[in-house]
Amino acid sequence: MIITIDGPAGSGKSTVAKLLAERLNVRFLDTGAMYRAVALAVLQGGAEESDAQAVGKIAGDADIRFDDETITLNGNGVAAEIRTPEVTAISSVVAANTDVRTRLVELQRAVGRQGSLVTEGRDQGSVVFPDAEFKFFVTASVDARARRRHRELIAGGSSLTLATVRTQLQQRDARDENRQHAPMKPATDAVILDTSDMSIVQVVNAITAMVEP
Ligand code: C5P
Repeated sequence: MIITIDGPAGSGKSTVAKLLAERLNVRFLDTGAMYRAVALAVLQGGAEESDAQAVGKIAGDADIRFDDETITLNGNGVAAEIRTPEVTAISSVVAANTDVRTRLVELQRAVGRQGSLVTEGRDQGSVVFPDAEFKFFVTASVDARARRRHRELIAGGSSLTLATVRTQLQQRDARDENRQHAPMKPATDAVILDTSDMSIVQVVNAITAMVEP
């Protein structure tokens, strides 16, 4: 059984997907972490994120894995490195690259062939797993999402203001929604959940009720 949970930054989809996978005792795939790992490889390789050819080559050469909730790049755990503001800023630029998407979609489908999965991202229901049994698109108002993301960043020691976080989030949304290849959008058969006024537990309960027989 494949369950896809797509949605914009700060919608809570990662936390929801992870808790849902634990509840159902199936694997969890964070595809945003994979795009972030490519962005990190681009920074480490000293390439310009706008250099499509160089970025495509870096993605093709990189060994990116998401196993047991651990993201590795060329064998090294990079959980913290992929969450820096520098990586976040270029992740959506790198994700618009066609070669990058082709490569990561291949890796994601290979994970899907190994068995039941809750997978989250922007295109999991619309492109990567069109035949998934259950598809959700989790969203929230830009203010709610900015507040959530700001709270997380402050807890992690960042000093970014709420206004900056809101602007960056909107920039990333715009890039993700307007790119040519696999733009962020709900699959036509996805259930859309607006979580602006819902807690994480309420969202997980709502989804569990829909997927459990
Ligand atoms: O979800 P997260 O914020 O970690 O994703 C980082 C970036 O990766 C997103 O802004 C988006 O550009 C890209 N992404 C994507 N397709 C996915 C998952 C993430 O384009 N399935």
